[in-house]
Amino acid sequence: MNDTSGHALGFDAGALASAAIASQPAYAPGEQPSDGGWLKLNTNENPFPPAPAVVEAVRRELGETGASLRLYPSPGSNALREAAARFHGLTPGNVLAGNGSDDVLNLLVRAFSDSSKPCGMLDPSYSLYTVLAGLNGARMMAVPVDIEGRFDADAVSGCGANLFFLTNPNAPLGVAIPQETVRAIAARFPGILVVDEAYAPFSGADAVPLLREFPNVVITRTFSKAYSLAGLRVGYALGAPEVIALLDRVRDSYNLDRLAQAAGAAALGARDYYAGVIEAIRLARDQTTDRLRASGWRVLPSQANFILAAPPPPATAAGVFAALKSRKILVRHFPRHPVTAPFLRISIGSPEEMRRFATAALEAAAI
Ligand SMILES: *Cc1c(COP(=O)(O)O)cnc(C)c1O
Repeated sequence: MNDTSGHALGFDAGALASAAIASQPAYAPGEQPSDGGWLKLNTNENPFPPAPAVVEAVRRELGETGASLRLYPSPGSNALREAAARFHGLTPGNVLAGNGSDDVLNLLVRAFSDSSKPCGMLDPSYSLYTVLAGLNGARMMAVPVDIEGRFDADAVSGCGANLFFLTNPNAPLGVAIPQETVRAIAARFPGILVVDEAYAPFSGADAVPLLREFPNVVITRTFSKAYSLAGLRVGYALGAPEVIALLDRVRDSYNLDRLAQAAGAAALGARDYYAGVIEAIRLARDQTTDRLRASGWRVLPSQANFILAAPPPPATAAGVFAALKSRKILVRHFPRHPVTAPFLRISIGSPEEMRRFATAALEAAAI
């Protein structure tokens, strides 16, 4: 028998679910509106298209008729792994490809945490880590980071986590961690140190040299931000072959589809194109920063493709967020964390988009 909502009476799916899953709130991604006309500055997507060579590689993979889609993809994403190894001066055994870097983060949590092996992260940083740890029944040790991006490196090494996520540059602060700090943590932290370099192409951050010294370091990279491929879901991990082999045992056997593998490999070959894209985004970021600061906003120095910016009082982040939304401009507000509550996180779009944003934001803050 069913009640009015169509559920069988007396049936409680939550009671049947694993304890970790039943008690875990879902990750809240930024809004993806389905109607047109929005200026989307809320999920750090790239305003420019992927390189022509990437589009060509996807077309080639698809062919005239799409016949290749009948066949399963390379289980190990071999061409992509070889391209990533070449790109970073490593071997394919150092690379694991993921269905977005979120897939890789999930594999890391499953492989290296459980109810007696806690995870750790800087707080605030990427909130997905907390969700993944919770789903796996692992505790999360949070090391506080202040608005300038400062934190106690010894607190990281000594936090008791088995798996620590160090986001560099930090999201949502945008601040980069000096290489010497990353090295010092890698040397002292006894577990797996994940350096999440989702935004590294926009900064000078690069922990790859540390891989030669520290077998406990894993670097994660994504094609979603700097490579304009958020819609295809491609990312990878770099690490010691023993660590990569463990992750390989946890992943789905066909975790990346054919088009994603082809696009990722081609993107790593289009260095000049992406150097231009990254430079344009950095320029638009710095111009937007200057313009907001000139009107009294507090804008943190960013090494990423977004800025964290607080409007001058009496304007509030919530007020400006709502005013922008009424003009179909989406940014992100994280009101529940005291460090981020006064700020808005604004993804960097094209120069024209940023002019439209800044004009609207300055007006909204002046009311
Ligand atoms: C965007 C982001 C990711 C996720 O990248 P995908 O490859 O799209 O899954 C991972 N880590 C951080 C810090 C991010 O901001």
